[in-house]
Amino acid sequence: MTHILVTGGAGYIGSYACKALKSAGFVPVTYDNLVTGWRDAVKFGPFEQGDLTDRARLDAVFAKYKPAAVMHFAALSQVGEAMHEPGHYWANNVGGSLTLIEAAVAAGCLQFVFSSTCATYGDHDNVVLDENTPQLPLNAYGASKRAVEDILANFEAAHGLRSVIFRYFNVAGADPEAEVGEFHRPETHLIPLMLDAIEGKRDALTVFGEDYDTPDGTCIRDYVHVCDLVDAHVLGLNWLQEGKDSRVFNLGTGTGFSVMEVIDQGQVITNRPVPYSMGSRRAGDCTKLVSGSSRAAAELGWSPARSTMKQMIADAWRWHQTGHYKA
Ligand code: UDP
Repeated sequence: MTHILVTGGAGYIGSYACKALKSAGFVPVTYDNLVTGWRDAVKFGPFEQGDLTDRARLDAVFAKYKPAAVMHFAALSQVGEAMHEPGHYWANNVGGSLTLIEAAVAAGCLQFVFSSTCATYGDHDNVVLDENTPQLPLNAYGASKRAVEDILANFEAAHGLRSVIFRYFNVAGADPEAEVGEFHRPETHLIPLMLDAIEGKRDALTVFGEDYDTPDGTCIRDYVHVCDLVDAHVLGLNWLQEGKDSRVFNLGTGTGFSVMEVIDQGQVITNRPVPYSMGSRRAGDCTKLVSGSSRAAAELGWSPARSTMKQMIADAWRWHQTGHYKA
């Protein structure tokens, strides 16, 4: 059995990745400190609790399972928090990733799938972003992810560590079978906040800014279904297992939705009103982040078939009404 070390396997995307890896015949080993993840979400393979910055713990886990590859999801990922507490982002996302990468190389595990982000690009005047767009992050979250991309390139040159780097656009939706889904603490993401507001579980949604240079004045993002995103990771793992060279792929659909368009769709799909009010801009937000995803399609054979806004909100809504973690 081929083991894959999945950092952040107790989180939203990592837990679904474990499900997909198990279906593909791998044994996903979750490594997670449970600060933002959930023990209940680890359902598809062994669990090892630990912190990315704990080298001794990582060494023990590599020795125990001898994973063929690492899928590195674990990270802090909130733009707003990153603006106020950049040190956390550098210590956890960069320091923790460096420790993990050093442990992987020391253990002879030289295949690495890394969760990067479109936030590494920054604002580019309404252009569609491809993998060659200059990376000019506006916040410490994006900067920390870009730094890890650089570390991976350096470690490839020095130690032969091959990587597939995925720059995610906005991940949304949930497991269609509602075994795992999005449940952040605190929640900061648009779609789960909107669903909470619909159900009266929290106050009205605040739209962060209506004076952006977009058709309706609200920010535009490219949303990709978590199932499609994770499919790309399995394809990326196969890519590395076939011995191919390191590669960067954007994961988005090429279609942007403004905040108001997401709210409109939310009302249609749930058949309920979304309580919202207009607020001021959130520091660190880009105007528009929309991907060109032709590279992933052409080279990995990736097709984000489930990533319609309708399907993403419908799957998120189903999960929202049934599945919540307790531990
Ligand atoms: N957003 C909003 N109100 C909220 C949360 C998010 O208007 O309560 C907006 C945010 O400014 C961005 C979009 O929704 O334009 C998606 O934000 P999210 O935090 O979900 O993801 P991000 O783009 O930061 O990764």
